[in-house]
Amino acid sequence: MATLGNRKSTADIIERHQFDFRKKFGQNFLIDNNILEKIIESAQITKDDCVLEIGPGIGTLTQRLAEEAGEVIAVEIDKNLIPILNETLADYDNVTIINDDILKVDINGIVEEHGGRPIKVVANLPYYITTPIIMTLFEKHVPLYSVTIMVQKEVADRMQVGPGTKDYGALSLAVQYYAKPEIVTKVPAACFMPRPNVDSAVIRLTRYEDAPVKVDDEAWLFAVIRASFNQRRKTLVNGLANAGNLPINRQQVEEVLAEMCLPASVRGETLTLEQFSELSNRLLKKRT
Ligand code: SAM
Repeated sequence: MATLGNRKSTADIIERHQFDFRKKFGQNFLIDNNILEKIIESAQITKDDCVLEIGPGIGTLTQRLAEEAGEVIAVEIDKNLIPILNETLADYDNVTIINDDILKVDINGIVEEHGGRPIKVVANLPYYITTPIIMTLFEKHVPLYSVTIMVQKEVADRMQVGPGTKDYGALSLAVQYYAKPEIVTKVPAACFMPRPNVDSAVIRLTRYEDAPVKVDDEAWLFAVIRASFNQRRKTLVNGLANAGNLPINRQQVEEVLAEMCLPASVRGETLTLEQFSELSNRLLKKRT
């Protein structure tokens, strides 16, 4: 039976193993059972599921995932947590612990080794890897149904906002191209040990079977999006023409904007995903 998810049991384990928190790994362990259950509920896990957990910590979420899922693969970077995980997960025979850096492992290879069916990703993410791990999961086309993650509140907001807001940018567009984002709950800093400096939120990203827009070259779309948001105060024409890594010039960008009936002074943050996909398809045809 799950024993973690509260202050006392977490403090006991930390004390007994004389575990030192490592800030560089974003170690803020969840100590609130209500939030834990909200994550489990919103991830909609069944015994048919294979779950990938990123950063199991002392195994708080892992215990509950193991109870709900058919199989859990947990990737933890900190070797000092492995003896703790071996203890807290001893009663579960459906958990595989991998001591590695999630940004360095071949996630597609792991999924393949475990049967190859689409996975569900669930994690209380270390904040420093939020964007790279989300981009890796999507851009490498890891077969998955959904990603249910705890992230910094501000980053959750960025993932789900639309054009014209200050938080809108490359991350919003990338997430919304691949998945439907829904904020599940806000999480105050007091729900963690040690307490972080910022509030968090749980967000669920449900992978689309087919992207909501038709794009001729996905890598090119994201190169165009990144260049468009590189320097926020610049116009789209300046951002794209000065990107350096894009084989397009100012005149070509201006022509495409005119074809799309957009003013030459338009800024990236006002364009929808549909407009970015049209822009990138048109630029692709013109690029030198
Ligand atoms: N899941 C636990 C919980 O909810 O209490 C711990 C969450 S804590 C915010 C993040 C965890 O990710 C830590 O255990 C940390 O050591 C681990 N971690 C940090 N960077 C990692 C990486 N690159 N690959 C795998 N795990 C990582």
